[in-house]
Amino acid sequence: MRIEILTIGDELLLGFTIDTNGAHLARELAAVGVEIVRRTSVGDGAEVIAAAVREALDRTGAVITTGGLGPTADDMTKPAIAALFGRAMVMDAEHLAWLEERWRTRFNGPLPVSNRQQALMPEGARKLVNRHGSAPGVWLEDERGRWVAMLPGVPREMRGMLADTLLPTLRERAARESGAGRAEPPVVRSRTLRTTSIAESMIADRLGALARGVDGLSLAYLPGQEGVDLRLTARGLPAADADAALAGAVARLRELVGTWAYGEDAEELPEVMLGRCRAAGLTLSVAESCTGGLLGARLTAVPGSSDVFLGGVIAYANEVKRGLLDVPVEMLAEHGAVSEPVARAMAAGARARTGARVGIAITGVAGPGGGTEEKPVGTVWIAVDVDGEVRTHRSVFIGDRGEIRFRASQFALELLRRTLARTAAV
Ligand code: ATP
Repeated sequence: MRIEILTIGDELLLGFTIDTNGAHLARELAAVGVEIVRRTSVGDGAEVIAAAVREALDRTGAVITTGGLGPTADDMTKPAIAALFGRAMVMDAEHLAWLEERWRTRFNGPLPVSNRQQALMPEGARKLVNRHGSAPGVWLEDERGRWVAMLPGVPREMRGMLADTLLPTLRERAARESGAGRAEPPVVRSRTLRTTSIAESMIADRLGALARGVDGLSLAYLPGQEGVDLRLTARGLPAADADAALAGAVARLRELVGTWAYGEDAEELPEVMLGRCRAAGLTLSVAESCTGGLLGARLTAVPGSSDVFLGGVIAYANEVKRGLLDVPVEMLAEHGAVSEPVARAMAAGARARTGARVGIAITGVAGPGGGTEEKPVGTVWIAVDVDGEVRTHRSVFIGDRGEIRFRASQFALELLRRTLARTAAV
């Protein structure tokens, strides 16, 4: 099945909204074997929407749009496409009643007049259920079988509707189109191995002959703040074969870069490390200077972190390092705040003050000012203290202030990962 994606909204053209809907649709559809032949973005005008849909239908006969289904005057998608199909807009009494009830119970008031248009549907259209918002999606098909599926712009609603309603519809349609007895349609599927604290060139060196692909699957190197993701992609295979090939290739990659890999696909390092600590019965605390609580924030963003993470100290000023973490004044004077002894003392202080078995400390120069020849911007000392066994590391991170702070928080977790991998604790 070949389709086009049309994302709608002036904000997309102005660059204030990044078209994550188009990217999400492309990934999800490719994964079930739907071929995306073109992605287009247009503004909110009825004429440009109609023209873009007409052209796309002429090419493929199948279009998915996102955006412009809301209750305001700039939401033109439904009437513009209805007019293109020569359909009138009619009131969907059932949806209107649901909207009125929702406003009565949720907002304790009558439905605003402008919301009524959310219940207007092109004649002959099918509603696509929206469990996450108030604007239903729309499926409109002409007598020749050409169709447009209209989804909301709000990403959460769009994703929900795609998974709940549209993907099952498309799978069924693709099966019908490919005809009974025909081979399963090919799909595009990916799996990602996530690494951190290793450069992509070093990974490529370790992979040697496999650097360009594994077992016939393509391999992409995706460097970012968290590290380098290695994405394997299977194309042109039926779903079961693609999954089997990916499983084998991920296992081979793990053999080669295993010690650098902390997780797969959507796994994040804070979540992974909380899980390891939980499994080992370890509690965790932090002492943060240049990251100002970023590490604690990333850990507590993980649901259920409270059984492992006890808390910590944002010790920005030396006075706080001394007063709340018991870092000796002489040590600060002799070595400076950004130093190995201070990082060690901060980690020990965090443990002592919270009673946690693991303390992680970060102290560094996030910039843009404050760097010296000896300690340039990006210099960060990290200490991990597990039951009094301490491991320290000095890094010089590159990037702006935000990147340096993020990379420091990421490497602190990585140092903990490496430490636990070597101790009997795990
Ligand atoms: P609403 O009912 O809220 O009006 P809608 O279907 O009319 O939803 P829009 O008004 O076009 O959708 O967009 C709502 C919000 O969704 C935008 O402010 C933007 O943040 C987000 N959004 C819209 N289109 C996209 C897109 N292609 N990618 C990512 N986000 C988007």
